[in-house]
Amino acid sequence: MATILDKNATQANPVPGIGLQPPVREVKPAPDRFKNLLGKYKVWRSDACVKCGKCEEICPRGVHVRPDGYADFLTGLDWRCTAEQCKENGTYCVDHCPQKALRIELSPMYKSLGDYRWTADLIMSTWHMASTGEVPDGELEYKTGNSGGGFDKIDFRFPADGPRTNPDEISTALELNKRGDNRPSVVIDIPIYGGGMSFGSVSPHTILSKARAAVAWNTFSCTGEGGYIERLLPYKDHMITQVATGLFGVREETIQMAPIVEFKYAQGAKPGLGGHLLGDKNTPAVAAMREAVAGTPLFSPFPFHSVYSVEDHKKHVDWIKHINPHALVSVKVSTPIDVDMVAVGSFYAGTHIVHLDGSYGGTGAAPEIAKKNIAMPIEYAIPKVSRFLQEEGIRDQVTLIVSGGLRTAYDMAKAIALGADGVVIGTSEMVAMGCIRCGKCESGRGCTRGIATTDPEMVAKMTIEWGAQRLINMLFAWRTQLVDILSRFGMRDVKELRGRTDLLSHQDYE
Ligand code: SF4
Ligand code: SF4
Repeated sequence: MATILDKNATQANPVPGIGLQPPVREVKPAPDRFKNLLGKYKVWRSDACVKCGKCEEICPRGVHVRPDGYADFLTGLDWRCTAEQCKENGTYCVDHCPQKALRIELSPMYKSLGDYRWTADLIMSTWHMASTGEVPDGELEYKTGNSGGGFDKIDFRFPADGPRTNPDEISTALELNKRGDNRPSVVIDIPIYGGGMSFGSVSPHTILSKARAAVAWNTFSCTGEGGYIERLLPYKDHMITQVATGLFGVREETIQMAPIVEFKYAQGAKPGLGGHLLGDKNTPAVAAMREAVAGTPLFSPFPFHSVYSVEDHKKHVDWIKHINPHALVSVKVSTPIDVDMVAVGSFYAGTHIVHLDGSYGGTGAAPEIAKKNIAMPIEYAIPKVSRFLQEEGIRDQVTLIVSGGLRTAYDMAKAIALGADGVVIGTSEMVAMGCIRCGKCESGRGCTRGIATTDPEMVAKMTIEWGAQRLINMLFAWRTQLVDILSRFGMRDVKELRGRTDLLSHQDYE
């Protein structure tokens, strides 16, 4: 039997993970790890400033400071500034400066950050949640982007008044085994788990940060298709083993140790295209894990060449169930027009979880043209599949998990109201760990922020504890928002929100 050794772990992981304390579900400050923090505003101070200190006195955010030993020098911690709130509250320093020496504008970095889906506000608000575990207080838009469609056009119809549920009495737990078969009950504490990111596409520190956050929140992360690195073993009860078309690193023992095994048939960001790891990211450690030659590009074909029918698919599911009599089986598919038929077929083949992956997800390595033009957006796929499962009389026997372009806690809640049981996130996790959405994940040595890279020097830019804490904090903030939504509807359990399309409205029609 093959072993699961990551033979070059030391070379790929210069910061050893062994000896870390067990992760805990607790908010702890995890400020940005780079020196020059990005903020929404830039504060300009002209030569007219006489250092009178009026701005220091009035600023509620501590933006204007005198560095130690410089009584006659004022500088700005611009990233703290919340100018719009100050205008409303009467604390706008620009208006109070007796010399008219201050000017505040949107910062050039803010203006160049993000795009219509992942706006600068969404990126910065995710950083805020990851740093503090708190929901932003109004300066940043944290619920929707500016895409002009999909989740960005859907609102909740909250009741104007009516009883609210006590947040402490609200359950966000989700049972993943609804089949009622002889396999274990698997309950996660939040209706969210982490998507597959393979060793090779992202760094081992990214993978381990995700795993630790999954342990803290009693949920799951997923190996992705690059194999099971040895340092994941302490977290194995919270890891999904992915079996994808390339079968990289797929080994009997990694299937046997997994509480959930996921077949990845396709990815919503690039359905029909398979996967492609460029040679530069295929380091000796990655190659050893994938049993390939270092430095060569690696392809995952599309489709599984062993599956061309539901019967073939059932053989796959039976294979996993035979090797691991305790695992739940998940099937990840993209969203073609007949995705409802695919979901039903998958259920009859024996799957416990149908994971729909719509367009718009994926890292910067997925081609933009594929992300935006091939798969059906997940907002359309969810009600289509949920309804079809209902008509078939099996909706309550299968768990419907969705992903692809879900950026915020509000997207998650809307997906559940459209008919999903829970969601898988990936890009939001990367943003929480400091991703700036530059889209260069696949090129050269990979991500300069140390997230989507296998280069040892880049990997060392992010410690596992910091990455995990950022994710733990973000999940706190997401759960807080989900609980608030349920509370406003007077609900006690996230299950009550599932399929409640009557609670949603579309901005174009109302
Ligand atoms: S606008 Fe408000 S938060 Fe910003 S620097 Fe001035 S006083 Fe401080
Ligand atoms: S910051 Fe890193 S992970 Fe984010 S898009 Fe750029 S290369 Fe990819």
